[in-house]
Amino acid sequence: MTRALAFRRKLLAWYDAHQRDLPWRRNRNPYNIWVSEIMLQQTRVAAMIEHYERFLRRFPTVEKLAAAREPSVLAAWSGLGYYRRARMLHAAAKVVVREKDATFPVTSAEWRELPGIGRYTAAAVACIAFAEPVAVVDGNVERVLQRAAGKTLSGESLWQAAEHLLDRKRPGDFNQAMMELGATVCTPRAPACLTCPVMELCATRGELPSSRKQIRQRKREIHFALDYRPDEGNGGSVFLVQRPQGAKLMAGMWELPEIPHPELSVRPAMTQPAFTLRHAITVTDYTVRVWRCEAPGQPGGRWIATRKLPKLAMTGLARKILQKAEILQERNAGHLK
Ligand code: SF4
Repeated sequence: MTRALAFRRKLLAWYDAHQRDLPWRRNRNPYNIWVSEIMLQQTRVAAMIEHYERFLRRFPTVEKLAAAREPSVLAAWSGLGYYRRARMLHAAAKVVVREKDATFPVTSAEWRELPGIGRYTAAAVACIAFAEPVAVVDGNVERVLQRAAGKTLSGESLWQAAEHLLDRKRPGDFNQAMMELGATVCTPRAPACLTCPVMELCATRGELPSSRKQIRQRKREIHFALDYRPDEGNGGSVFLVQRPQGAKLMAGMWELPEIPHPELSVRPAMTQPAFTLRHAITVTDYTVRVWRCEAPGQPGGRWIATRKLPKLAMTGLARKILQKAEILQERNAGHLK
């Protein structure tokens, strides 16, 4: 038996016995699989399941998603970050409905013609939903391939190595098994090699010596003004500002006004913030200090009734702050209509 064949058999037997029960694995619905693949980019499984289920309750079909207004889509995406993914998903849904009569592409080449679909996502959806025999390489697969081969691979050589190992009869299961192995056993730190189904075939059995410099997390402190009027309308209102439509990040999303120098701008003057929380975005760890004070006058600012907050397209950090301040109930945030 060749090494590739042995690898396939062992990996698929392990996957059949140990795969996680994830909502998008319960059927082969291409829409569900597509949404899950977009959400999983830059987000861990455990952190996205609740968002995924809420999003599908709100937009259960591609037709419903295509017909939605962008602010509703962004509001349902709130908490996942990287909002460009939501905008692209929405744009692609419109193409599927308006230009393809709500019929999904089948091959990975066809999927790549949709807005925001790259090589990885096209291959993942085509192999899982339509059993196209095409390999998938994400960060987890890359790690497994490199450790199994005992050498650093990059670019096209990674895709070739994945194609060589691919089980062409069960491509969807094989690719998901590779990703699952990387996520749960062959983890970035301290891989669980003793429980690994392909340990006998692995050239490394541990971490490959890293040739890259470790990316260091930056630390930053930021301050926000929480200006809340309990007596305005039903349940009060809070002052928020909208990010410019042309902003590079989270364009058009609502957030609390930032105060660069609280010692100068907090009115009435105070020495301590109301509370502090931590928030991490890619390579930056934020210490977020929230001051209950008058909001500084800012362009794009407006008083928003708190009953409107659950449907508002807010940044994840703004949602976190308002929940911590008990102005926005976590339960309400899940009832987007
Ligand atoms: S033996 Fe260890 S390093 Fe090799 S693939 Fe399995 S978990 Fe990863």
